[in-house]
Amino acid sequence: MKIAVLGAGIVGVTAAWQLLKDGHEVTVIDRLPGPAEFTSFANAGLVAPGHAFAWASPAAPRMMLRSLISGDQAIRFRPRLSLRQWVWVAQFLGQCTDERARLNTAVKAPFCRYSQKVLNEVVDETGVNYAGQKGGLLYFYRTPEVFEAADKKCQILRDAGMSIEVLDADQTVAKDLGLAAAAGQIAGAVYTPDDESGDANFFTIALAKKCAEAGANFRYGEEILDLRERDGLISAIITDKGDLVADAFVLSLGVYSPHLVERLGIRLPIYPVKGYSATLPVTDAAKMPRLGGVDEENLLAYCPMDERLRLTATAEISGYSNGHRPGDFRVMLKRARALFDGAADFENPTMWAGLRPMTPTGMPIIDRSPYPNLWLNTGHGHMGWTMSNGSARILADLIAQRQPAISRAGMEYHG
Ligand SMILES: Cc1cc2nc3c(=O)[nH]c(=O)nc-3n(C[C@H](O)[C@H](O)[C@H](O)COP(=O)(O)OP(=O)(O)OC[C@H]3O[C@@H](n4cnc5c(N)ncnc54)[C@H](O)[C@@H]3O)c2cc1C
Repeated sequence: MKIAVLGAGIVGVTAAWQLLKDGHEVTVIDRLPGPAEFTSFANAGLVAPGHAFAWASPAAPRMMLRSLISGDQAIRFRPRLSLRQWVWVAQFLGQCTDERARLNTAVKAPFCRYSQKVLNEVVDETGVNYAGQKGGLLYFYRTPEVFEAADKKCQILRDAGMSIEVLDADQTVAKDLGLAAAAGQIAGAVYTPDDESGDANFFTIALAKKCAEAGANFRYGEEILDLRERDGLISAIITDKGDLVADAFVLSLGVYSPHLVERLGIRLPIYPVKGYSATLPVTDAAKMPRLGGVDEENLLAYCPMDERLRLTATAEISGYSNGHRPGDFRVMLKRARALFDGAADFENPTMWAGLRPMTPTGMPIIDRSPYPNLWLNTGHGHMGWTMSNGSARILADLIAQRQPAISRAGMEYHG
């Protein structure tokens, strides 16, 4: 079949790979000059089934409310005159009950594990290089009470069959000597030995190259403007360079997915949740963290990526701007420096901001749309690196009318 994949972020490119493996003729279109140049550009790099907790939790509404007066909340709400934003916020708040948070995490955790397995298969079959690092991730806590609560919260992941180790402060530092200088700040950590990390941008670029070698056609610098409909099917996409006719179409436009299909009556509950990232050159490898992880009470993610230290923070519900100013990174850099002083050049960060394509539940939508040859593979939120490869496999299975290897609970399109 001739399939057009709309979007060359990590979700579109991994889909292209799985579709090529199934023998399809694949074209990928993106308006940017290359793959992974938008949200998949500089994320935290954590492949983290052990962090599959839903962001919509009973604590989230309080954080959003407080964020209206204080800038230090993990989830920040910046109200706009936008119906799209308010509808999404209402849907998100609807998921913030104990029961919904538990259910959303319970479906997300096994899906993340499955996706990591597919990632590893793709790495084995392609040999792509992406600063990948196995050996687990550390999620550490600063106060004993919060640490204790975190241990309890992990039961849901244990129930999903994940290995979780609970470490005291000394054991945490023994697990990652890069945290030695920060020992006094740590009450304990949750260690997930099966989690891993790597540069999603490197991975996507390398995989796009493999896709091209396998026959995929990449059309960059081409803006998708609309979809042409005929007899209940999509017959072509309309771009600023002309039409592209195909048998099937896969929608993977990140935060812009809802915009393209709205006119067709397809409503996708996806809204941007902005995050900031800083990448620093390593100056002293001995002081670097050996493993990626999260300073949980500051919601600061860190990840060693070969000669670089990647830091990310913040979840801001503020609209579609991915602009940033140096001031947006001040707190993040200060907190990271207090952990890893001397490890990297904190005076020369490369700054970036990205828009997570977030659904209220945190699960992506992987389904056939009401137009039978238009497929949805979008809305991967804060875990698109972790969930992309598994999503791609499930999508390819659905298109081939094969039963996916895991349950699709939570991924359905509700029109
Ligand atoms: C700060 C931060 C930290 C993160 N950390 C992690 C992490 O540690 N682990 C993890 O698993 N995930 C993480 N994520 C999430 C992950 O990065 C995203 O879920 C993922 O990148 C989304 O990929 P995507 O392909 O859906 O979207 P994108 O990468 O945005 O791709 C969509 C593509 O569509 C193109 N496009 C859009 N509209 C059009 C149009 N009209 N015409 C043509 N092209 C168009 C865009 O140019 C873009 O290239 C993080 C995200 C952020 C922002």
